Amino acid sequence: MRITVIGGGVGCARFVLGLREHVRRTGSDDTIDVVVNTADDWRVSGLRISPDHDSLLYALAGVNDTDRGWGRTGETERVSAELAAWGTAPDWFTLGDLDLGTHIARTAWLRAGESVSDVYRRLGARWPLGATLHPATDAEIDTQVVTRDGQIHFQEWWARHRAQVPALGFEQQNIDQARPSGGAHEAITRADVILLAPSNPIVSIGPVLAIPGMRDLLLSSRAPVVGVSGIIDGSVVRGMADACLAAVGIETSARAVAQHYGARRASGILDGWLVDETDAESVGPLADAGIRTRAVPLWMRDADSSAQVARDALELAASFT
Ligand code: GDP
Ligand code: CA
Repeated sequence: MRITVIGGGVGCARFVLGLREHVRRTGSDDTIDVVVNTADDWRVSGLRISPDHDSLLYALAGVNDTDRGWGRTGETERVSAELAAWGTAPDWFTLGDLDLGTHIARTAWLRAGESVSDVYRRLGARWPLGATLHPATDAEIDTQVVTRDGQIHFQEWWARHRAQVPALGFEQQNIDQARPSGGAHEAITRADVILLAPSNPIVSIGPVLAIPGMRDLLLSSRAPVVGVSGIIDGSVVRGMADACLAAVGIETSARAVAQHYGARRASGILDGWLVDETDAESVGPLADAGIRTRAVPLWMRDADSSAQVARDALELAASFT
């Protein structure tokens, strides 16, 4: 079976780790492809940074810092300290030395004329990941946050202002010119099951769906589309997705996020939706809206609980075939 996941950074990485664990335990030859959000990519000191991709890469490779929740394990920050001393990097965005190695390699390949997809392939070849990562698009679609004082890059809003500056909306630059990458196109068209990771609905999944042609690919796919809520009992598990949802007028609830994605039979994208047990009251109303919903434990604390979430998502998907 070909399983395709759509998602962003750390929430997506936890989910894909669970999925990989589940596939290993079943001993099947199921494959995992991940269509990765590229809209929170940006540039620091001339280097191209790809946070969502790198969160997935490091987590799947087992070289991520699980205590801090981001970056590489055993990291040092000597280069960042030097860059700050030279005044060339913002002091609110620290990059580790090992992590900088990734950014230098990526930037060198891009400057040599390679595509973002080429760079994903190169970075993905170093460790056995158990999943294939594809950029949602090869185009640069960095998210800009609209504030009362004008637009700022998403990373400035997120990392510098900790999402505390009121956002009036999110826009992806040059999104009209973007197209799904070849790998994303194939992963969606050939999928047997499509899973939406519990990623940030507005800035991790939203930009992927906003790429012209992406929704049509999903709608025309023969695979069932099942999403996993990143909102549990009215709160985010980690991060600041609530600030993003509030900015576009969506309540922070599993039910509201499902309604935002919409039922596939009503021109949305979801066939099925997993909510946490604490959100069981949303099962009936969402079913009435055409989204088959199941309430199961959605906290991914360790290998067992993450594998169980993946298994529940696949079981819900299987109920459509
Ligand atoms: P980011 O780009 O690094 O912020 O990561 P993502 O967009 O992939 O994921 C962020 C979302 O993952 C947040 O909204 C979290 O609520 C959600 N998330 C993180 N851990 C868990 C978990 O254990 N269970 C569920 N259901 N969601 C989670
Ligand atoms: Ca992200």
